[in-house]
Order: sequence, then structure tokens, then C-alpha cells
Amino acid sequence: MPTLTRLALAVLVLLAASTAHAASNGSETLLRGLWTEAQLAGTPADRVVTKPWAQPLDNSPPARLTPETTLPPVPADLREVIRRVNPAKGERLVALTFDLCERATNVAGYQNEIVNHLRAQHIPATFFAGGKWMRSHPEKAMQLMADPLFEVGNHAWTHANMAVADDAEARRQVLWTQAQYELLRAELARRAAAKGLSAEMAAVPPVPRLFRLPYGRNAERTLDLLAGLGLPIIQWDVLGEWNDGSGSPQKSAEYAVKRVRPGSIILLHANAVPKNTQLVVPILTRMLAAGGYHFVTVSELLRAGTPETVRSGYFAKPGDNVQYDTLFLGGGTQHPRPTDAKHP
Ligand SMILES: [Zn+2]
Repeated sequence: MPTLTRLALAVLVLLAASTAHAASNGSETLLRGLWTEAQLAGTPADRVVTKPWAQPLDNSPPARLTPETTLPPVPADLREVIRRVNPAKGERLVALTFDLCERATNVAGYQNEIVNHLRAQHIPATFFAGGKWMRSHPEKAMQLMADPLFEVGNHAWTHANMAVADDAEARRQVLWTQAQYELLRAELARRAAAKGLSAEMAAVPPVPRLFRLPYGRNAERTLDLLAGLGLPIIQWDVLGEWNDGSGSPQKSAEYAVKRVRPGSIILLHANAVPKNTQLVVPILTRMLAAGGYHFVTVSELLRAGTPETVRSGYFAKPGDNVQYDTLFLGGGTQHPRPTDAKHP
């Protein structure tokens, strides 16, 4: 290898290492050391979503029920449902967030085109992953965990509605997901060791440090539960997926951009439901960048200012998600049965 090329490579490796350290979300060296470009890019099979109830109901727990790492309680100013952040210096910061939801009644997908776009454009984002989703998509979950661009948060085990779940169920939903993350992190560490990359694991957080409410629903007791478990509850102030009936990705992006302010948190999904998100994201990110916005992870956003909070989560208007208390079965963890549907 020519000396100049080797020097350039060394500089790149150093840069990657320092980036990983600053973001503390993963390591470029680890990511590129464990997967090829093609493996990271994925295949159309990643995007398959199975039909609800096509498989037996899966309420099975993870291989370990309790996480080894416990987090310190959430500080007082982060104990409610966080809608957005007021940046201290008024910086035009915005956080893209992608939920990876999976109920007990099906296997959700992984919208690889979204992740590929974010990687290609070097856009940081936060993924809120369901525990069962991580178990059914271990490679994808580990890739997100290893990637320094991305922060991984907790989105409950099987998408339980926390306003409906009793205390024991709510606790299980959170802790099983933390434990599943740890199991995958241990596998990541094994693979890293086999490649002589163990030192890189220091950049991968031991457990998720943020929580997102399924359906945006919570009870008063949910605030205490999550605060005690050390997980700030992160919601959104902008819906990234809006459909006026036309299904136009352009209109969806315009709807979101009109509502974005410095410190906004945008709700999106990366589990191939809704179907057009991969078309919205490139338009949305281009428009936001053109508007002078700088993309950050949620944890970076929290460090940059003061959170704006509510005591009860919602989509766009208070109370607009109460319908989800009865729409899904099993406390929010199951789709309505096909036989219940109005149209076969
Ligand atoms: Zn969800």
C-alpha cells in the first residue's frame, strides 16, 4: 500500500475513533469491522411485515428477564413526557426519531432504505426499538447499536399501551427490552473480540437510556415507573408521517417542515409501516438541511437545552390517542383479529 494511502487511512481511522467517542453511540471501526457494505445495506427481505395473526401469538420472554445494568433515576427536570427541547442558544437543532414497533401478533419489518439514506448522508438519528423487534431482527438491531450515528432507545417489549398496562406488565415491557438489548450487546462483544476490536465496545452504551411510549399513551404512574428505571420518556412535537389521503411524500414532508422549530423532535417509523416513510425521509431531510437545521440525536438535543414537557402524551392534540386504549387487544400488544375487521 502506498505510504500516502496508508497515512490517509490512519487519519480516517483516528477521525472515526474520535467521532465514536464524542457521540458515545457506537464505533465506525466496529461497524465496518463486523459487516460488509452489502450486509449493512440489507435486502428487500428486511422490509417484510408479516400479517397479524398469521403466526401463533408470541408473548414469550427474552432469554434473560432482568437487565444487569441499572440506570440512576431520571433527574427532576426530565420526569414528564418530553415533547421537544428549547435549545439554550436557539440553535436550529432537530432530532429525527424512528420507532421500530412490534406487537405479539406479527413480525414487523426493517426499512433498510431509510437507514441507508441516513448513513449515506451522515445524518444522526434515534431509533426506539421494541424488545421483541430486536429479538426478531438481531443483525439489524446490532448494526444500529454499533453505528456511531445512531442512538437506540427502548420502545417496550410488545408495544404495550402504558396507560392500560398494570404495574407488573408495564415493568416487564421496559425491563425485558433492556435485557434483550444487553443479550445482543453481549453477542456484539463476542464478535468484536473475535476480530480484535474489543476496545471499540466501550463506545456502545450498556443499555438504552431513553424510552418511547407505544401509542404515545401513559398513565400518571408510568411517569414514576420510567423515572425510577432511569429512562426519560421521549415523545415528539412534529408528526413526520402525515397523510392527507393523497399519500404524497412531498406533502407529508412539507406538513412536517412547517411545524418544525429549533429543538423539535420528529416522529417517524422505520419498520416498513407506514409504507411511504422511506420516500418522505429524503425529502424531509433535504428541506430541513436547506432550512439551516442541524440533525442531532435525542440525547444530544437534551444536553443542548431545556425540555418542554406534558404529563400525558398525545400525537398532535391532547387526548387524540385515547382511542388506542381499546383499538388493540391484550393491553395494546395485539392487533385486532382479522375476523374482527370490517373488511375481510
Ligand atoms: Zn410504536
